Amino acid sequence: MNEMSNHQPANHFQLEAENPFTLRIDHSKDISESDIRSALKSGDRGFLHSFTTGSAVDGPGIRIVAWTSGCQFKCLYCHNPDTWKLRNGIPVTLEGATAELEKYRMGLKIMQGGFTISGGEPLMQDRFVVNLFTNAKKMGIHTALDTNGSLGNRLSDTNLEKIDLVLLDIKAWDPENHRRFTGHDVRPVLDFAKRLAVLKKSVWVRFVLVPGYTDNPVEVKGIAEFAASLGNVERVDVLPFHQMGRFKWKELNMAYSLENVEPPTPEEVERVCSIFRAEGLKAY
Ligand code: SF4
Repeated sequence: MNEMSNHQPANHFQLEAENPFTLRIDHSKDISESDIRSALKSGDRGFLHSFTTGSAVDGPGIRIVAWTSGCQFKCLYCHNPDTWKLRNGIPVTLEGATAELEKYRMGLKIMQGGFTISGGEPLMQDRFVVNLFTNAKKMGIHTALDTNGSLGNRLSDTNLEKIDLVLLDIKAWDPENHRRFTGHDVRPVLDFAKRLAVLKKSVWVRFVLVPGYTDNPVEVKGIAEFAASLGNVERVDVLPFHQMGRFKWKELNMAYSLENVEPPTPEEVERVCSIFRAEGLKAY
């Protein structure tokens, strides 16, 4: 018996959350390894932390956001470490997730919003993400992918046609810092950014400002110059670090090294925005 079929009714009410800061763990712990592999290959099922409604910060207009589980990065400042493990996500069929999205179709049109897939890292489930975006496009819904960019080569150019906007997180410019903050190389992220530029795909760069970690002006300038050189970056969102996810590290028994880091002041955020603006970019 396919264990996953036990979960296929995929409690849609359970999927909804007020925000992604709800701690969710072990929702797929009983699913066999072979069922997970098969789901990842076909993309007919996925693993989601939640669906949230009414976001005004994850792309243009008001958005529905699907938060995927699974992330290969281990960012020191991650505020949703429960999304790192794929098995923490709620198993959903492609059909179920599409039906969930369809509920909001008219509202999204009226509010000139759309559908964003974030995470975790959505491209850990690249086939499911492409299938879901394909269905969203069939419904005439604007689509945005929020990604750390390192698995961008899992998407073909045809796959990318289903994505109207890429929200590309650039965590650091210096390769050593990038590795220190995320555990991974920055090169695949920058390569994906360059490929998106060649394809003239709309991109919003996202940069998390963490005092004492990512606020070095030289480092910020490196990202700003690179982003400006691409020609397809429509805006930069400077996201102030916050401590809303601190409790999750504790609940998950994970060592959290940013325990005592304070969020940046509005002046610090403005200072970093001005570095991006000096390169001709819109920054908020
Ligand atoms: S890429 Fe995002 S989800 Fe993954 S560890 Fe970093 S902040 Fe967390």
